[in-house]
Amino acid sequence: MKILQMHVDFIEYTPVKKEISRAEDIEPRTVREDDIVVLFTAFELGDDAELATKAVAETKEFLTKLGTKRVLIYPFAHLSQSLAPPVDALALLLGMEKEARAAGLEVQRAPFGWTKALQIKVKGHPLAEMSRSYSHGEAVVQAPKPKARRELSAEEAMARLKKSDFGNLPETDHRIIGERQDLFSFQEVSPGMVYLHEKGFRLRNILVEFIREELVKGGYQEVSTPSLANTALWRVSGHAAHYRDNMFLTELGSEEMGMKPMNCPSHFLIYKTRKWSFRELPVRYATFDPLYRNELSGVASGLFRVKVLSQDDAHIIATEEQAEGELGKMLDMMERVYGVFGLSYKVKISTRPDDSMGSDEEWERATSTLIRVVKSRGWKYEIKDKEGNFYSPKIDVDIKDSLGREWQLGTFQLDLQMPKRFKLAYTGSDGKEHTPVVLHRTIFGSLERFMGIMLEHYRGVLPVWLSPVQARVIPLSDEHVPYGQAVLGSLVSGGVRAEGDFASGTMGAKIRNAQLQRIPYMLVVGKKEEDSKTVAVRTRGGEQKFGLTVEEFVSSVRKDVTEHR
Ligand SMILES: [Zn+2]
Repeated sequence: MKILQMHVDFIEYTPVKKEISRAEDIEPRTVREDDIVVLFTAFELGDDAELATKAVAETKEFLTKLGTKRVLIYPFAHLSQSLAPPVDALALLLGMEKEARAAGLEVQRAPFGWTKALQIKVKGHPLAEMSRSYSHGEAVVQAPKPKARRELSAEEAMARLKKSDFGNLPETDHRIIGERQDLFSFQEVSPGMVYLHEKGFRLRNILVEFIREELVKGGYQEVSTPSLANTALWRVSGHAAHYRDNMFLTELGSEEMGMKPMNCPSHFLIYKTRKWSFRELPVRYATFDPLYRNELSGVASGLFRVKVLSQDDAHIIATEEQAEGELGKMLDMMERVYGVFGLSYKVKISTRPDDSMGSDEEWERATSTLIRVVKSRGWKYEIKDKEGNFYSPKIDVDIKDSLGREWQLGTFQLDLQMPKRFKLAYTGSDGKEHTPVVLHRTIFGSLERFMGIMLEHYRGVLPVWLSPVQARVIPLSDEHVPYGQAVLGSLVSGGVRAEGDFASGTMGAKIRNAQLQRIPYMLVVGKKEEDSKTVAVRTRGGEQKFGLTVEEFVSSVRKDVTEHR
């Protein structure tokens, strides 16, 4: 049995059509539930009432932690490749519902066997999403026969090319903001992945450039590695054993290949191309390469959970003595970065999970180093028992956005395992070979998710330094288009991200349009401006300034950018 559990602000679904002949007979109607824990559930071959009981008991325990009793059981076949026959699945589902009621929970249930249109808004807190899997170890699970895939006709294929529709999400949702500001779209042929339009890609690159400035100051080297690697790489790293279910796998000739879910192993390969002396450490590799993680199927949460993501990722290979100092520098960087966005944060230290590699002594050493670093900064911290990676303990940092929601963004890990597995080495002052340690860190987490959070944090009104378009030139009438174009040219060559609205239309409509897109500055030019070689500046908040020279305007925008306003 596979369960994907989500604590949601709301879920809304509409049964569209019967997917199987055993579908329940119901009157299809739209159902909305607010503030509820949803259990997307798939029953698999070999499941029985005992497993259902176990799942209900664990769910109840979890709901108690969250302080709620409301649960929605939602049959969701997409979670498994080896589904139980529908007749068994329905019986298990009804049994589970009954059991949950008997356990004192307030239970809702979605109909079985229907294709449903689904909208969901997952809460931001760290426990909001969780997946669980139940099986009898010894039960024989038959692999299902792969479905023969029929080739689509040209018309059928064309019909699949559709933009995802978000229906009536609230105005504050980043998917609505993204659509309105022409930042990105989601397409049905790439489920759970984002298409960044020009302005969205610009926003991503502004974030990347911001981190790059920190990388230069911090002595990092930026690198890039292939998306695809033979699974031998993931066997050495342990991902093949611990993460295989979430990897995208494919074949190249007779070899099995995997899309990279993490950058670390690839960075180690670069390190291993030459010998290193202790004098050259630490080596700091940074990258913004895309990563591929098949973590969820079919559930839309926009940029908050995408299958193809990029991190502001880095790996520092250092001697163990250097680890503490390097961790300190990373946390300094994190403080600077979060400070610019006005984000407050909380620190947690995640300790050794049950399913992990290495000795107790190593975990103790690594964990106590993390605690020492955090304590030395006078920070309060919480211990998250057994929530570390399979290879290292970590410092996790949760930020709080302007809506009071918490998000886990930054993570800082001290890893004593991967260096041994990859046989990383350096020559010490004693002339002998030693094993370094690896620090893994990311500050934004996923750039895509961070963009989504920031769009909601700023309610779509991005500060000037982050705005993909900082200024739009609007001529008062057609005869002022040439002057408007000259102004635009000066803005662009002055480094302002600017565009012009030179199409026909009234100035009022053009201003409303720019305001709707939350463009910080509108530069209106008419006869007066043309004669005096100036611009009239109108902010998105409605303030106006007349008689500015283009140079004055450019330098005020530059000031906004350098001061991150
Ligand atoms: Zn890593």
